[in-house]
Amino acid sequence: MKVCPYCNTTYNEILQTGFVGCSRCYQEIEELKIAIEKMYCGKTHKGKKGKN
Ligand SMILES: [Zn+2]
Repeated sequence: MKVCPYCNTTYNEILQTGFVGCSRCYQEIEELKIAIEKMYCGKTHKGKKGKN
């Protein structure tokens, strides 16, 4: 699904604006979920601050 049924925001719209229409967008638009994960993958450093 490329459009959120809750707020009618499309995947392309979110890509262009950088904002999701609602919190459901992440769950409804799988491509968005994957894209977000890729985006944050390069920015956040998980594990370096770990306390073990
Ligand atoms: Zn939405």
